[in-house]
Amino acid sequence: MQKISKKRFASIIAVLCIFAFAVQIYNSNSYLETNEVSLFKKNTTRSQSYQYVDKGVHYECGHSKVLEKEKQLDQPQQAFDESLYGTNDVSYLLPVEKEYKNIRIKVDYSNISTLSLETRQYIVKKVFPAVVSYIQAVIKVQRLTQPIKVDPAYKGKTCGQGKIKIPDEHFDGVQDTDLVFYVSHHSQDTNLLAYSSYCPQGQNYGLSSGRPTVAYMSYNLKQLEKDISSNDKMVLAKWIYMTTHELVHSLVFSPNYYDKYLLEKNPVKIIGGKPYVVAPSVIKVAKEYYGCPTVDKVALEDAGGATTFGFHWERRYFGNEIMTGSFLYDSILSKFTAAMFRASGWYEVDDSLLAELTWGIGEKCEFLVDSCPKNTKEFCTMPGKRCNFDYIGQGVCSDSDILSNKCSYFQPSKTQHCTYPDEESRKIYEVSGGTWGPNARCFDTDIAASSNVSSVCYDAYCDFKTEIPTVIFKVFNKEYVCDNKTKEVEIPGKGKIKCPDITRFCTSIAACPLSCAGKGVCQQGKCKCFDGFKGDDCTQSV
Ligand SMILES: [Zn+2]
Repeated sequence: MQKISKKRFASIIAVLCIFAFAVQIYNSNSYLETNEVSLFKKNTTRSQSYQYVDKGVHYECGHSKVLEKEKQLDQPQQAFDESLYGTNDVSYLLPVEKEYKNIRIKVDYSNISTLSLETRQYIVKKVFPAVVSYIQAVIKVQRLTQPIKVDPAYKGKTCGQGKIKIPDEHFDGVQDTDLVFYVSHHSQDTNLLAYSSYCPQGQNYGLSSGRPTVAYMSYNLKQLEKDISSNDKMVLAKWIYMTTHELVHSLVFSPNYYDKYLLEKNPVKIIGGKPYVVAPSVIKVAKEYYGCPTVDKVALEDAGGATTFGFHWERRYFGNEIMTGSFLYDSILSKFTAAMFRASGWYEVDDSLLAELTWGIGEKCEFLVDSCPKNTKEFCTMPGKRCNFDYIGQGVCSDSDILSNKCSYFQPSKTQHCTYPDEESRKIYEVSGGTWGPNARCFDTDIAASSNVSSVCYDAYCDFKTEIPTVIFKVFNKEYVCDNKTKEVEIPGKGKIKCPDITRFCTSIAACPLSCAGKGVCQQGKCKCFDGFKGDDCTQSV
């Protein structure tokens, strides 16, 4: 096992937990639902790449489709005529402060005013506060010193495929903001959850160093309202992750912007028919993350046809990263996406608020080959069940994820997730001395009295006081310890529990209650609440 210093661990574990209930994430085509998690947490539940294997449904991020359609639109999409000014001509840029400070995002809900109160409240009160508080905490910009005046070319028209109507007062200027983000809706009987894009701004209207300042996303009401009416606790996390994902597309991760990047222009190249990020800052992260010094390109999702090329990380190599193409249970906004923010030259990132991805970490160059790697924690070759790679639940070996290049991996089962298992699983965990909830993690064991269950969830945490952390978990109310040398723990009269890979387990564990409810950041198991909030889980107002 790889030795990890306490210091490195501290940085690794700085995790952001954004929400209380959360979580889930996307798949390149799909978004799955997760659970209470933290968005970016590492803690509680996570994994983004979890698709609900029991549904086998892929929910889509519609960014690709909207790009395709917006190319066909006429005005005012094309009001933004770059021929008016060369890319080196900065005369049209809005003035900015020199110093980088937290981005200020103004979310405008006027395009959803006709929705039901319940739906609006869900978007306005539950989803967006978590998303915006997280992004505003993590991403920094050179703030605009003037209001954003939306391009008057949009007067009497709408913006983009989202048909966004711009409120009249926004043509006069939106004060104290660095991004105006419109929320809209559409309705279609597909697995599309949402899509996003931006509203190009003409000369003198809203460009700051070329960075987008006016953008939008559109929810598919068919999917959103179905979820709101369900009692599935994983659903909120799913929509929070999905919304964050779309916001990141709008900010930086889009072919709309690549040729405008200031620092590492044109970061995406098609090589051998597949899309790769070749930006040096991203490659540097990959070398360190995978432990592969020869990496010279980083794969983007190649499934789904040419229109999906170029703006999602490849599931096969990135698992539950939030910018993969579909949801897994817990999504992570990792150093890779942070590197894309940096490559643009428009943003700085507070690394201390990033969660640590664990998928493929330290697995060397063998992990990055085209074929499915064998003998790794992530992938599997035989049908079977086991704790999934980040120990948030029992996984089923499956190749149902079209984004994973046909490589089978342990996809978390929705019903046997440690945070919100179904009734039957709860009973099994109870009789096996286990439990469920935000602090529960999956352990492989023969204790369960069911042939269908080879893993049980136990409350667990990591003790970081030693050089290599130890895992402490509770079975029948008694604490047991896995350290670096322990392979199995015998529970007298009951059975054996396998120790997890401690490095991976403690990297991904989310020990913060409620993942800090979207109102704080989880660092080594303790919430650091944002201004205005307090309490162990940041749920109390100051
Ligand atoms: Zn997407």
